[in-house]
Amino acid sequence: MNPSEIAQLHWQHELLSSLEVGIVVLDRDFNVEVWNQFMENHSDILPSQICGKPLFSHFKEIDEEWLRAKAEPVFNLKTPVFLIWEQRPYLFRFGCNRPITSDSASMFQNVTMFPLTSTDGSVERMCMMVYDVTAQALGKLRVERLNEELKYMSRVDGLTGLYNRRYWQERFDNTFKLARRRDKPVTAMMLDIDHFKQVNDTYGHQAGDKVIQALAEIIRETVRETDLAGRYGGEEFVVILTDADCDKASLVAERIRESAQQATVNHEDTEIRFTVSLGLAPFDASYRSAMAWLEQADIALYDAKTQGRNQACVKTADMVKTGT
Ligand code: GH3
Ligand code: MG
Ligand code: MG
Repeated sequence: MNPSEIAQLHWQHELLSSLEVGIVVLDRDFNVEVWNQFMENHSDILPSQICGKPLFSHFKEIDEEWLRAKAEPVFNLKTPVFLIWEQRPYLFRFGCNRPITSDSASMFQNVTMFPLTSTDGSVERMCMMVYDVTAQALGKLRVERLNEELKYMSRVDGLTGLYNRRYWQERFDNTFKLARRRDKPVTAMMLDIDHFKQVNDTYGHQAGDKVIQALAEIIRETVRETDLAGRYGGEEFVVILTDADCDKASLVAERIRESAQQATVNHEDTEIRFTVSLGLAPFDASYRSAMAWLEQADIALYDAKTQGRNQACVKTADMVKTGT
């Protein structure tokens, strides 16, 4: 090698070293041929320790079978392959440089693998470029998490943690459409705390809020996960009871009524008791809209109120048709 070739090799080596990207050259058996400074810095493995050895001998975390399959097109079709952090957070388990600001212990990586063609056109080696994308990945994950939180907050009522009216209504409209196509019973339930104004007037608004929360808890504990409970207004709640005919729904209503009657809400050394009235309306194909269906639950609730409160009433489509 003449001096100018040595000089050229030197600056090319400098270039590889100073890149803020990992560069690894592998032969077809995945033996390491080039291991640049970035890889050395992050792995604490010197080129002299790894060059000539299979990559997998130093990196047990790499799934050998998977990587060989991924790299297959690089060697055999001469096409590049991209590994992105969204699918696998990293190829090499490197520590993260930003332990204070980040919530990730490992470096997120995008990896490009491309063929290195020999002078005769054959591909005996491939190059892996390893990009540290931790900052972008964490940014994206943070935005996604915030969006999830926002979505949750936009659906949930702050006081009770049940669905808010807008979201519940959306789901109820959907339930209505589904119910028209399916042959499964589903019942709408509406409930309202009895003489709630008195609670507020006697103990104050804060005490009233506690009662609302207590009832929400009872509803949550009583209904199944597949049922959809929402806060419809001040002290008015709605529940879609999935797969529940009139009898099943009445059992749920009775359980809620009973639990409410038994419950005590502690507020400033006093125990507040309360009762609820409930209205049930099983779905019927004759209902023209979700609102027409819910209206029957509201009428049933009104019946429960006028018949003395602390009870559940039912309004079926037959009763609507016969005017009872
Ligand atoms: P009824 O048995 O007929 O239902 O009698 P009621 O006194 O409960 O009557 P109504 O349902 O009309 O009363 C609703 C009251 O709920 C009026 C309002 O001041 C109160 N309210 C509405 N939203 C809230 C809330 O978020 N917190 C509290 N503490 N009170 C609320
Ligand atoms: Mg009320
Ligand atoms: Mg009310």
